Amino acid sequence: MNIGFLGLGNMGAPMAHNLLKAGHKLVVFDINQKAVSTLVEAGATAALSPAAVAGHDVDMIITMLPAAAHVKSVYLGENGLLAAVRKDTVLADCSTIDPHTAREIADIASRQGSLMVDAPVSGGTGGATAGTLTFMVGGTEAGFAAVNPVFEAMGKKIVHCGPSGNGQVAKVANNMLLGISMAGAAEAMTLGVSLGMDAKVLADIINTSTGRCWSTEVCNPYPGALDTAPAARGYTGGFGCDLMLKDMGLAIEAARSVKRPVILGAVAQQLYQTLSLQGHGGEDFSAVVKLYSQLQPNNA
Ligand code: NAD
Repeated sequence: MNIGFLGLGNMGAPMAHNLLKAGHKLVVFDINQKAVSTLVEAGATAALSPAAVAGHDVDMIITMLPAAAHVKSVYLGENGLLAAVRKDTVLADCSTIDPHTAREIADIASRQGSLMVDAPVSGGTGGATAGTLTFMVGGTEAGFAAVNPVFEAMGKKIVHCGPSGNGQVAKVANNMLLGISMAGAAEAMTLGVSLGMDAKVLADIINTSTGRCWSTEVCNPYPGALDTAPAARGYTGGFGCDLMLKDMGLAIEAARSVKRPVILGAVAQQLYQTLSLQGHGGEDFSAVVKLYSQLQPNNA
C-alpha cells in the first residue's frame, strides 16, 4: 500500500520503519530534516509539506505528532493535509491529543468526504520498535476496517473503542490511572522502606498481593526494588515525566469538559509538575519517588 507518514520522532520513526519492513511504500514529512533523511535512506520518499504528502498517490496517511496544536496545523493549516487529500485516502492520527480536538478534525474530514480515525497508542518506544503497540481506535466501523491491516504491521492489539474521539478517551483514562498508580507505588514503597523493609522483599510481597499493579511489578519506582526498571538505571529510558505531565493535563481538561471530578488525577498531576519543575522532566516518570524521599527527615 502507498502510505504517507508525518512525524518521525521517537515513536513515528520506528513505526515508519516497521511499515517499510512490511513492504509498504512510504512518503514521509517532518520538520526535522535529519529524521526525514534517515527514513529516505531506509527506502521512503520525502515530501516537502503535508499537502505534498497528500498530493502523492497515497491510500492512507498516518500522523504521529507531539500535541494538538501540531495536529491541527498539519491537518487544517495552509499546505495542510485536508486541503490536498484525495477523498478515498484514509486518515489516521496516532498522536496523543484531547478527544475534543480529535473529534473536531475528524468531523471536518468527514464533511469533505474523508474517513478519519483517532488511534493513539500505548507500548512506548520499545513497543514501537518491536511492532507490538496497542492501538486504541476511535471512528466508524469502515474507518476501523480500513486501518486495521496497516496497524497490524506496527502493533499486536488493535481495539475499536467506539466513535470518533474514543481512542483518545481510552488513552487519557488509562494514562491518568497509570500516573496515579505510579505515585501510589512510590508512596507505599517509600513508607515500607522507611519502616525498615528491604525494597526487593517489599516489592515481592506487593507483587503477590492485592497492591500489585504495572507500576509495582514492571516499573517499580524504588531504587533497588527491581533490576530491570528505569529506577535501576538512573531513571533513564522509559516514559518521560513531561510526557506523563502532558497526558495528565489532557485527562484533567477532558474531565473539565464533562464536569467530572478527577481528584486523585489532579493531585498526581501536581506531583509530576513539581518533579518537572525540579529539573526531572526528561527522566522516567517513576522518578516521582524522588519527591517522597525528599520529604523523609533522614532522606531515606
Ligand atoms: P517526538 O517529539 O519524539 O516526535 C514528534 C515528531 O513530530 C518530531 O520528529 C517533530 O520534528 C515532528 N513534528 C513536530 N511538528 C511537526 C509538523 N508541524 N509537521 C511535521 N512534523 C512535525 O514525540 P514522540 O515521543 O514520537 O511522540 C509522538 C506522539 O506519541 C505524542 O503525541 C506522544 O504523546 C505520543 N506517545 C509517545 C510515547 C512515548 O513513549 N514517546 C508513547 C505513547 C504515545
